[in-house]
Amino acid sequence: MIVGVAAESAPGEQRVALVPSVISTLTKLGVDVLVEAGAGGAAGFSDAEYTEQGARIAASRDEVLEAADILARVRAPGADPDHGDAGLAKLRSGQIVVGLLDPLGDTDAVQALAGTGVSSFALELLPRITRAQAMDVLSSQATVAGYKAVVKAADMLNRMYPLMMTAAGTITPAHVLVVGAGVAGLQAIATARRLGAVVEAYDVRPAAREQVESLGARFAELELDTADAEGAGGYAEALGDDFYRRQGELMAKLVAGSDIVITTAAVPGARAPVLISADAVRGMRAGSVIIDLAAETGGNCELTSTGETIEVDGVTIVGSVHLATEIPYDASQMYARNVAAFLGNLIEDGAVNLNLEDEIIRETLLTHAGEVVAVRVRGALGLTTAEPATEERE
Ligand code: NAD
Repeated sequence: MIVGVAAESAPGEQRVALVPSVISTLTKLGVDVLVEAGAGGAAGFSDAEYTEQGARIAASRDEVLEAADILARVRAPGADPDHGDAGLAKLRSGQIVVGLLDPLGDTDAVQALAGTGVSSFALELLPRITRAQAMDVLSSQATVAGYKAVVKAADMLNRMYPLMMTAAGTITPAHVLVVGAGVAGLQAIATARRLGAVVEAYDVRPAAREQVESLGARFAELELDTADAEGAGGYAEALGDDFYRRQGELMAKLVAGSDIVITTAAVPGARAPVLISADAVRGMRAGSVIIDLAAETGGNCELTSTGETIEVDGVTIVGSVHLATEIPYDASQMYARNVAAFLGNLIEDGAVNLNLEDEIIRETLLTHAGEVVAVRVRGALGLTTAEPATEERE
C-alpha cells in the first residue's frame, strides 16, 4: 500500500503533510511513502531527506495521485479557488484522503469531494478524547498560530514589548490583550510574556482563569455570568448575541488600553462571536495592532477582513487565515506527527481497516462511496441527519 504526498495546491500554503522524520513510523506500518518532487521544499525539507528516510520521490503530481492508496494532505485537494476542480479530477473511488478538509466551511467543496468517491477523513472532526491527542491537528496548528500572532504583531507594532530602563530613559512595556484562552490563546500569552509584555486575557470558560494566571498574565474581570459557558469536550458553548454585545461593551475599555489585541474566541461549528466593535477599534491608539485568529470563521472583530490586513484610523487589523503556514517547518513537523498517529490507528497489518466501531475513524470519516457521511456535516448541509446505511460504507 502506498501513502502519497503531493505538493499542496492552496494559494500561499507552505506546509507539507508528511516530513522526513515520520517516514520510518509509516514504513513500520507496512506501507510505502511516495512524495512528489519538491513537495516539502517550501517547508524546508529536501527530496534527499525524504529518500534518506526510505521514501520514494515521484517526478510529477499525477504519478502520486495515480499510485497512492492514501493521500496525505494539509489542505483539501480542491482547496484552490481557481483550480479546485483540477485538484479533484484525478482522485478516484476507493482512494483515501486525510487532511484539513474544512468540513463545516465551503459546502460545495465538501460535496465535490464526495462526488469523487474517495473516502476522506477530515482531521478537524477528531473527537477530543485522550486517545486522539497525538493526532490533534487543531491543537498543533493553533499552537504555532498563537506564537506567530505575537511575533507578527511585534513586528508591526510601533513600540517594543519589554520594559527598558536605559540611559535614554524608561520605555514602558507594551500591553497585550488576548481574548480566548484556548490552545492558541495560551500560546500567545506565553510568547508575549517571554517577550516582556504586560498581558491580560479573558475566556468565557471559567477553567481558563487558572491557566492564564499560571502563565503570568492577569485574568480580566468582566461582570458576566459564564457558569454554562463550557460544553462537551471542553469547548465553549454559543452564548447568544446579547451576551456577546455585553461582553464587547465591557471589553471596550480593555481594548482601548491595549497596544496589541489577539483574538482567538471560537465556538465549534458556529460563526466566531463578534466581540470587538468598530467603535472599540476607534478607541485604540494609532499604531496599535489587532491579530484576529478567528478570521477564518468570520472574525472576533467587526472590522476584520478575512485573509487581509487592513488599517482603520491607524490601527492595523490582521485577518490572516492558516497563520501556522507562515512557520511551515515546525507546523509541518507537528502536523506530520499528527497524521502519522492517525494513520497508525487506521492501518492494520499494512491495510486500511475502516472500523466504524472506532470513534476516531467514525467521527472523522467525511465522505465515503460518493456521499457525505459525517453526521455533524450532514446536519450542517441540511441533509437528513441519518447516516447512510453502514453496509454501503464497508
Ligand atoms: P477553540 O479554538 O474552539 O476556541 C478558542 C477559545 O475561545 C476557547 O478557549 C473558548 O473557550 C474561547 N471562547 C469562546 N467564546 C469566547 C468568548 N465569547 N470570549 C472569550 N473567549 C471565548 O478552542 P481550543 O483552543 O481548540 O480548545 C478549547 C479547550 O479544549 C481548551 O480547554 C483546550 O485545552 C481543550 N482541548 C482539549 C483537548 C483534548 O484532547 N481533550 C485537545 C485540545 C484542546
